[in-house]
Amino acid sequence: HPDFMNNRQLFLNHLAQTTDFPLLIEIEKAEGVYMYGPDGESYLDLISGIGVSNIGHRHPKVIQAIKEQLDKYLHLMVYGEYVQSPQTQLAKALCDTLPESLDNVYLVNSGSEAVEGALKLAKRFTNRREIISCVDAYHGSSQGALSVGGNEVFKRAYRPLLPGIKNVVYGSFHQLNEITEQTAAVIVETIQGEAGIKVACREYFQALRKKCNETGTLLILDEIQAGFGRTGKFWAFEHFGIEPDILVCAKGMGGGMPIGAFIANKDVMGAFKNNPLLGHITTFGGHPVSAVASLATIQVIQEEGLMEQVEEKANLFKQLLIHPKIKGIRNKGLMMAVEFESFDVLKPIIDRAITNGVITDWFLFCDDAMRIAPPLVITAEEIKRACQIILDAIGD
Ligand code: PMP
Repeated sequence: HPDFMNNRQLFLNHLAQTTDFPLLIEIEKAEGVYMYGPDGESYLDLISGIGVSNIGHRHPKVIQAIKEQLDKYLHLMVYGEYVQSPQTQLAKALCDTLPESLDNVYLVNSGSEAVEGALKLAKRFTNRREIISCVDAYHGSSQGALSVGGNEVFKRAYRPLLPGIKNVVYGSFHQLNEITEQTAAVIVETIQGEAGIKVACREYFQALRKKCNETGTLLILDEIQAGFGRTGKFWAFEHFGIEPDILVCAKGMGGGMPIGAFIANKDVMGAFKNNPLLGHITTFGGHPVSAVASLATIQVIQEEGLMEQVEEKANLFKQLLIHPKIKGIRNKGLMMAVEFESFDVLKPIIDRAITNGVITDWFLFCDDAMRIAPPLVITAEEIKRACQIILDAIGD
């Protein structure tokens, strides 16, 4: 296809590259769980643009909300000055999904920015400087978020990063003793995503919460990947009977539009108001078009009963993906990692699955597992079709 060749060339020549293995697929349209190429070829999306399209691509209610907002206004002013109903309505809808203590929402543009805001807020509120995070955590790519990341290989080239960061092993009870009265915050992905879907037990989260309470340390939960229904609850922390002091979210939040948030108690968030010290400032944070898309997304997740179907759909994947080459499946709801022996075994399987119309990939810090995180709207028929294509790819 001449345009495709042209666009592929432009992509390689003029778009900054981030990986040695770009998927290099051109997409012209996407709807529901499907994406379509320029020649009408279709791809079943098993990764939701990395945990974004939880309600499917271009959900009609999201598109409708965006269209209505386009007729009103786009950007008006930096975040936090004018009263804009897309932002106020969204903040209220978010708080309604959360425990009462999380009643104050700071809207930003992305996951990394939400993490930056949360870390700054924890420092301001506690007046402490040390932050604890987990080995193999991924919290984003900006310098603060990278500093609390847990993979040395990714950090090495950018040192010196933020000082005062300690990594502990996710799920290790023993290492909770690292949390002391010097610790401003512990930041943890409720479910570790880029580590290849690692799930700590309920007792761990309870012990973590207790230790934070005892030391006056703020608990920041990163649900940028795990939130918005992906695990079968609106928020993944609901599985573990704890509440964070600061919650960070993004990705699935916008139903395909860029938006993120860090959410805390009004008292904690109040630490940012104290002039003349700068809190967090963002020009585009909570952009009205993204905010209305996010509000529609929350309504769709709740009204279409998507969370209730997650466990059954995850179990169907697990029943179907049985093969001697598959070593196991780790998951929390539709956040799944299918384990293979090595990247060398997995890579050609992924390539073949993509050629045959199923999009999947691996994880940043776990290259021997296949990522499965489809739109929650995927049907049983589509799951069967996707699994058959994966099994055929393994066979090939
Ligand atoms: N935290 C987690 C758990 C993530 O998965 C990601 C993105 N993969 C981020 C933070 C960073 O989000 P963003 O790419 O929107 O900055």
